[in-house]
Amino acid sequence: MTLLSIRDLTVHHGQLCAVDGLSLELEKGEVLAVIGANGAGKSTLLRALAGLNPPTSGSIRLGDRDITRLPAHKRVSAGVALVPEGRRLFRSLTVEENLLTGAYRQRPGPWTLARVYELFPWMAERRKQNASQLSGGEQQSVAIGRALLSNPDLLLIDELSLGLAPVIVRRIYEVLPGIVGSGTTALIVEQDVSQAMRVADRVHCLLEGRSVLEGRPQDLTPEQVEHAYFGIG
Ligand code: ATP
Repeated sequence: MTLLSIRDLTVHHGQLCAVDGLSLELEKGEVLAVIGANGAGKSTLLRALAGLNPPTSGSIRLGDRDITRLPAHKRVSAGVALVPEGRRLFRSLTVEENLLTGAYRQRPGPWTLARVYELFPWMAERRKQNASQLSGGEQQSVAIGRALLSNPDLLLIDELSLGLAPVIVRRIYEVLPGIVGSGTTALIVEQDVSQAMRVADRVHCLLEGRSVLEGRPQDLTPEQVEHAYFGIG
């Protein structure tokens, strides 16, 4: 079943065309990774899906609903949750208070505070600590837990690995099967290509706002990916 369908999506920042006639589909229960160099338009795409960057043209459908013009605050209720680049936690709030901000517009579904603590057991033990006392990787995990608490159909994760050690990134990505297994579909933006290839069912490589390569990791050669990433050939 198709969960997300993007057709001819174009998004501008002023004169600059950051996403240029992009089309892609995401099946329910899939993990799709969007890769691409700096400035390829990955974050703009995610922000357009979250309602933060209004498209110039094209359409976004979630299930059978057209959400192209739905404002950001209504996307959460529609089933879209964004884990933004840089985590954006409230540093003076505790771990648990940060998590609960995600439950503010909670939809019915499997994700509760207890379920998030099952996914990340250390969080239960440290739920009264301030977010400012957490490491970068721990903050990233709280940002994921917070997004899950809205019970999204579509979880968007922007640059999870930014500024984190590879071993930490791998550990955080280990929770993805548990998330997808609960019925949530994931679209991740990842600059670390090998990481994306490890965790995704399918990847799209963007170059100057266009998808230049799409496929399952096992079907793509490193040369194909490298050429698409750098725009060679
Ligand atoms: P990065 O990995 O560096 O975040 P990206 O693939 O996510 O790159 P975007 O951040 O979507 O790319 O940027 C796409 C293009 O749009 C770039 O040329 C960028 O400079 C430009 N851009 C992004 N945000 C804005 C903004 N708020 N105002 C103006 N231009 C922007």
